[in-house]
Amino acid sequence: MQTPLIFDGHNDLLLRVHSGNVPFGPDGFQGGGGHQVDLEKARVGGFAGGFFAIFVPSQDASMDMEEMNKPAYDLPLPAQVEWSTASRIALSQAAILIRLEREGALRICRSTSDIKSAMEAGVLAAVMHMEGAEAIDPDFHALDVLFGAGLRSLGPVWSRPTIYGHGVPFRFPSTADTGPGLTADGIRLVKKCNELKILIDLSHLNEAGFWDVAKHSNAPLVATHSNAYALCAHSRNLTDRQLHAIRDSDGMVGLNFAVAFLRQDGRMDEATSIDRMIAHLDYLIQEVGEDRVGLGSDFDGAIVPAEIRHVGGLPKLCEAMEKHGYDRDLIAKICHKNWLRVLGKTWG
Ligand code: ZN
Repeated sequence: MQTPLIFDGHNDLLLRVHSGNVPFGPDGFQGGGGHQVDLEKARVGGFAGGFFAIFVPSQDASMDMEEMNKPAYDLPLPAQVEWSTASRIALSQAAILIRLEREGALRICRSTSDIKSAMEAGVLAAVMHMEGAEAIDPDFHALDVLFGAGLRSLGPVWSRPTIYGHGVPFRFPSTADTGPGLTADGIRLVKKCNELKILIDLSHLNEAGFWDVAKHSNAPLVATHSNAYALCAHSRNLTDRQLHAIRDSDGMVGLNFAVAFLRQDGRMDEATSIDRMIAHLDYLIQEVGEDRVGLGSDFDGAIVPAEIRHVGGLPKLCEAMEKHGYDRDLIAKICHKNWLRVLGKTWG
């Protein structure tokens, strides 16, 4: 089978480049010298684009991800990041994306026709996304400026608290019912995003925050990179009730490749079979329907199954889907068609 092109719900390439972990130029992202996402590996894997996250890392002692190898864990969340610090970092990550576009490495897409034409032209299609709204001031001046620069998707929190809400800690086993949801400013942010037609990302919100967005947003509910709680009882995953709300709003879920959110034991062990990804796809399709499931890899931000490793390994996931009995049409929906559908509905 010819593998369909892949449009994906989440990667952290911008953080990698910003932190100096992946070089910007032909020796790094613009060649084959990236970590999990670069232009050469993208060509090999049929990775046509996706959501590129602007993400402000924690400023205090970062979380000890080694903890996630234990049978149970509850990582304390780092402190809130000040706006002045966050906006400096967010602007420089947005600038990386803009410079990459100027150099012809990708295209920043503001509509589904932008995405389709980039995909047809063989240019990487990038949606500017922000994971955690620390860089957005409550007057929304930064939001207006970033919208002007191409921002079309925003998560009010990345787990860490913001002035907009409380995220979900990395806890296993645990539901996402871990505390209060959105603040009054968070509800204003949801309404402002609706007005600008910016997608609101539910991944990293706790349950209270999820239901606050569900109540106040007029857009389809979307979790860009989350899995099924029924198969992996991690706080980052979605319960059946949440999945049904996503289905009823005609939204969607992107399958997160992070092994800790795939495995039944919640461990960060890369020796995780692709079958585990298929199991979550099966479950998500059963709960939300085959038009509402896509991919949300978390490449460059997570430990993924060793068989996949990076974007160049994506055809192996497609082969596994085919072997499992998914037909061509369903595989194409999961690979990119469903993202185009839900983005079309959200952006208008
Ligand atoms: Zn994330």
